[in-house]
Amino acid sequence: MNFKHTYTVPGKKINTSIYLGNGVFNTIVSLISQNDYSSVLVLVDENVFRSWSKRIQTIIGKDASYLIISSGEKNKTLATVEKIWTTLSKKGFDRKSLVVNIGGGMVCDIGAFAASTYMRGIDFVQVPTTLLAQADAAIGGKTGLNYYGLKNTIGSFSAPTTVLSDTTFLSTLPAREFTSGLAEIIKHAIIADKDLFTFLVRKKLTSLPKKELDKILSLSTAIKCKIVNQDPYEKKERKKLNFGHTVGHAIEMACQHSTIPLLHGEAVAIGMIAEARMSFLSGFLPEKRFREIENILSKTGFPSNVSSHYKKTISKKMLFDKKNVGQQIKWAFLEDIGKVKVDTSLPDEIINEGLHYILK
Ligand code: NAD
Repeated sequence: MNFKHTYTVPGKKINTSIYLGNGVFNTIVSLISQNDYSSVLVLVDENVFRSWSKRIQTIIGKDASYLIISSGEKNKTLATVEKIWTTLSKKGFDRKSLVVNIGGGMVCDIGAFAASTYMRGIDFVQVPTTLLAQADAAIGGKTGLNYYGLKNTIGSFSAPTTVLSDTTFLSTLPAREFTSGLAEIIKHAIIADKDLFTFLVRKKLTSLPKKELDKILSLSTAIKCKIVNQDPYEKKERKKLNFGHTVGHAIEMACQHSTIPLLHGEAVAIGMIAEARMSFLSGFLPEKRFREIENILSKTGFPSNVSSHYKKTISKKMLFDKKNVGQQIKWAFLEDIGKVKVDTSLPDEIINEGLHYILK
C-alpha cells in the first residue's frame, strides 16, 4: 500500500510531497535526474548505513558523495553541522546541489538545517528510516540542533522538496526505537483524532500487522500535514503538536548523559502523562480521559516516570522552552481527546503536582 500526502508553505511556493510505503525510496533516481542537480550529497546515519549501504548505493549510485553521521541525540550538535558544511564546501557544492538525508529524526533535523543554511539554502530530500521520523520528524519543515544543553534551540523553518518514507527500512529498526516512534503517533491521535485514538487503545501496538501499521502511519502523517498546512510557522494551531513536549524535551535533555539515556519518544510519553495530569488537575480534562492516556502509554511499554534526581534540571530546562514568553511557560493544554488549547499558563502548584506525579 502506498500513500501520498502534501503540505504547503505559503509565500515560499513550497509544496512538499510525502510518499509513504514499501519501496518509495527507489523514486529518488527519477527525482534526481528530473531536477538536473549538479551534485548530490547523501547524509546517512551510521547504523542505517551498516544495514542498508548496498541498497542505498545501488539506488543512488557511486557518483554521489556520502557522509556517514554518528548516530544518537548527543551528536545533534553544531560540530556535526560543521562537518556537513565542510564536506559541501570542500567538494565545491553549488546552489544547484541536493542533500539527501537518510536516517531517523536526528539526521533529518540536522541534515535539513545544514542544507537550509548552506549558500542560504539548497534543496534537500528527507528519507526517514525510523517510525518516529516517518510519523513526525521528517514532516513539516522544522530543522534544528541542540545547543547550550537545550533542545532544538538553533534551527530554521525550511521544507524539503520531497519526503520518501520507505517502510522497508523499518525492518532493521530495534524494537525499543520502534516503540519510541509510537509515542508521536499516539500524540497525534490524542490531539487531533478521537477515532484513531479509539483504534489505538484497542490494539497491541508493538505487534501490529503490516496493513494496520501502514494505516496508522498514514493517518498520523495526514494529521501532521493538516496542522502544518494550517500554520506552517507555528503561530497558533501548530503549537498543539507540542503536547507532552514541554516536559518531554526537558526530561530528554536532563537525562541525556545518563548511562542509558531516554529516547525522544520515551521522554515525550512521560511528558504527555505529566501534561495530561496538569490538565486533569486544573479541572479541564476528565479523569477518565487522563486514565485512558496513561493506560495506552503504559500498555505500549513506555516508562511512566523518571528519577527525582533530575527534578531541578527538568524544572530549569522547562523555563527555556521555545514556546515560553518571558519566564512564563506556555502549555499545549488538553481539554479532551482531539481538543487542545494552546498558549495556556498554569499556576505553579499545578505544574509542580504534574511533575511530582512522574518523578520517582
Ligand atoms: P534517531 O534519529 O536518533 O534514530 C534512533 C536510532 O535508530 C539511532 O540509533 C539510529 O542509528 C537508529 N536507526 C535509524 N533508522 C534505523 C533503521 N532503519 N535500522 C536500524 N537502526 C536505525 O531518533 P528518532 O527517534 O528517529 O528521532 C528523534 C529526533 O527527532 C529527536 O532529535 C527529535 O528532536 C526529532 N524530532 C523532530 C521533529 C521535527 O518536527 N523536526 C519532530 C519530532 C522529533
